[in-house]
Amino acid sequence: MPIQILEPTVAAQIAAGEVVERPASIVKELIENAIDAGARRVDIEVRGGGVRELKISDDGCGIPSGEIEIAFERHATSKLRVADDLWSIATLGFRGEALPSIASVSQLTCITRTQDEELGTELRIAGGELQARTPRGCSRGTTFIIRNLFYNVPVRREFLRSEATEASAISAIVTQYALAYPEVRFTMLIEGRLALRTNGTGDLRESLVDMYGLDVARQLLPVESEHGEGFDRVQVRGMVSPPGITRGSRGYLHVFVNRRAIQPRGQIAFVIEEAYHTMLMKGRHPIAVLDIQVHPGAVDVNIHPTKSEVKFRDSPRVMSVLGRSIRDALIGGGEVRPWADAGEPPQPEVAQRRFELRRFSPAEGGEPARQPEPLPEREIELFGEPAPFEREASGFRPTPAIARAPADGDAPQLRAESFLALDVEDTPAPGYAPPPRPPAAPRLPELRIIGQVGLTYIIAESPEGMYMIDQHAAHERVSYERLMRQRGQSDIEQQGLLMPQVVELPPQAQQVLLENRDELATWGFAVEDFGTALQVRAVPAGITVSDLPSALAEIADNLMGRGGSTPADWREAILTTLACHTSIRAGQSLSLAEMRELIVQLEQCEAPRTCPHGRPTMILMSIPQLERQFGRIK
Ligand code: ADP
Ligand code: MG
Repeated sequence: MPIQILEPTVAAQIAAGEVVERPASIVKELIENAIDAGARRVDIEVRGGGVRELKISDDGCGIPSGEIEIAFERHATSKLRVADDLWSIATLGFRGEALPSIASVSQLTCITRTQDEELGTELRIAGGELQARTPRGCSRGTTFIIRNLFYNVPVRREFLRSEATEASAISAIVTQYALAYPEVRFTMLIEGRLALRTNGTGDLRESLVDMYGLDVARQLLPVESEHGEGFDRVQVRGMVSPPGITRGSRGYLHVFVNRRAIQPRGQIAFVIEEAYHTMLMKGRHPIAVLDIQVHPGAVDVNIHPTKSEVKFRDSPRVMSVLGRSIRDALIGGGEVRPWADAGEPPQPEVAQRRFELRRFSPAEGGEPARQPEPLPEREIELFGEPAPFEREASGFRPTPAIARAPADGDAPQLRAESFLALDVEDTPAPGYAPPPRPPAAPRLPELRIIGQVGLTYIIAESPEGMYMIDQHAAHERVSYERLMRQRGQSDIEQQGLLMPQVVELPPQAQQVLLENRDELATWGFAVEDFGTALQVRAVPAGITVSDLPSALAEIADNLMGRGGSTPADWREAILTTLACHTSIRAGQSLSLAEMRELIVQLEQCEAPRTCPHGRPTMILMSIPQLERQFGRIK
């Protein structure tokens, strides 16, 4: 074939591949356009997963009738003139690619009117070809209706997921912008049902109430900090959850740069979660809504066609301000023991040691090690002051000190701790429990309960030494195995609620739960549609009402494939979630009888030594170790 310049419609279709991946990408572009047009109100309607029809209307400035056709030309934009402008972008759009791309792969109607015009205009385009242009009366602003996405590119259609999945991707995008622009009133109808509404008062916490419910929104901690001036200015604002409120996925991290939503991946996600260091359990993630404001010239937003990634000119500094401001919010929140501040010299040791856990050898019935997997480890707090240890004599081995000094040097020393590692003999390795033995063999030694420490750990003894048992982890194991048994017999114990509970969740979570109502029923949940919320009439026995919102949020995450996608995965994940939410918590005082009962139940478990997340339920300090500690033996 001779070389030819592509027909404009073909070129547009190819370009569309970059910008328009799925209905949610269209929603993103059109919301951005609405915001750039100064809209105070954006209404979104989704039908057939957004593939059949999307309608996005705003009350922004509108497009002058003389410019509408140009707006649909490639690289036509009112937001950028010369290449240098790229370094001072204050609008969300600038590439001038969205409208032509969308129009080239759908049947599009655009209805728009500016303030000064008496009559608006309606434009119809199909597959990039202008079909009709008619004057029509309409209110100020712009409405886009996009029908039959990819009708002319069937291959692309095949890549789309189910309507429900596409709708939930749209929900996620709208949620992002609603959080970034609390002063804009958003509504979203999915298949005719109100899925999201914010009131547009400009108060972020109020938008969060609309999305995550009053209970969660009330507890979020404000983040507010500003460093530097002019080109060097970095400002971080928003809200983060206290360490006690977590989620099982990163789906609740909303990060914006100059109010542009970006993917909370990589370094940014790391820095946010690192600010919670030691406050979050493995696999748990905070809720965060954070806007990072920098000088427009200090960030490159043009490194990705969907503009969902950015590059900071001075990334280490931005990251350090980000981490520090979250840390400040958390410490200010009063829930956290403050760490050494910048002024103080770093503490050589804190009352925290890292226990190194040993695998069972195959001879002991453990699985052979799968190299090069790292040994699972866990940090626990020891009681009392750390005693100075004699390295060799005590049997303790120091691990390399973990000290994280932020790159720019002026940030506080968040942690400068040296951990001591201890070879705990006979300690179960999390995730490497020995295979189930014949029931006759006792799985746990007989334990005598001594008491409870820190309202969290049960202390017990056996002839081997002292056992420290994490009451929550232990009960989780018991609940997990009970639920697994009941589930295997399709007999999950259900508990009707005298007062049906109304639970508010993010729209996409709510939707996915309603779609999986039957599956949920097999787990003991009876849920119904209750407008913008869910009504719950029955729950699996043991779940407390106050735990219901977070349990359901987590199950929704599991169902949406966050963290694992195959049905077996998410069933397993739901099991783990339920086990967690039906178990006694850390911080709960237990009587001797209750502790005894828990240990009896634990003894009957198949894998009593680890919780369903793979963390240990117990740690043994053997008699020889105790003796070494006290210097009785070397
Ligand atoms: P970009 O946003 O990158 O400029 P688009 O293709 O998204 O490119 O839009 C092209 C132009 O159409 C915009 O620059 C703007 O002038 C106009 N436009 C698009 N959507 C709207 C809207 N909702 N309200 C007013 N003007 C709009
Ligand atoms: Mg745009």
